[in-house]
Amino acid sequence: MGTQPLLFSLQDFYGGSIRARLAVAHILYPHLARELAANEAFARMLAQAVIFQKELARIMAALDLGALCAVCGGRAGGGCCSSFMAGENDVPQLLLNLLAGVPVAALREDDECCFLDETGCLLLFKPMFCLNYNCRQIRQGAAPARMRRLEQGVGRLLQQQYALEQLLLVVLRQRGTLAG
Ligand code: SF4
Ligand code: SF4
Repeated sequence: MGTQPLLFSLQDFYGGSIRARLAVAHILYPHLARELAANEAFARMLAQAVIFQKELARIMAALDLGALCAVCGGRAGGGCCSSFMAGENDVPQLLLNLLAGVPVAALREDDECCFLDETGCLLLFKPMFCLNYNCRQIRQGAAPARMRRLEQGVGRLLQQQYALEQLLLVVLRQRGTLAG
């Protein structure tokens, strides 16, 4: 008996529940990890995305965003990392996290985002809405120059994530893993 072909649709990647998308990313990861590590263009772009993510993390730390959000998220009904926001994560972006070494898993089953733990967000590469969102508390608390640096850091990372995701989709279509 032959093995099932590894074939997914865009609906599998961008539709369905976050649990279903997480399962698809975990099915794909072992099949792709070595192949993509050997793909020079992809490996270079992924390494650059990790550098941009680290730069952004430094900018956010300088603004004390982690502490601010931790205090806010600790209040009843506080924080903005909800289970609704978890649904913004798609398969390519979860896969990029796995390929960058993040042990992506659902960490909780309540009203908060399943990727949030007591130390913050588990993911290196987050959805656009998560990266772009700055509440009033943050916007009012930060000097304009620092907010500009934050926006530039977010913009750089989002652009790189987008380019990586497009390249990933091309590779998956070429190897017959993604239909449509
Ligand atoms: S972005 Fe603002 S609302 Fe969201 S957790 Fe941080 S401080 Fe709270
Ligand atoms: S920042 Fe992370 S924990 Fe928060 S909603 Fe986005 S993915 Fe979830």
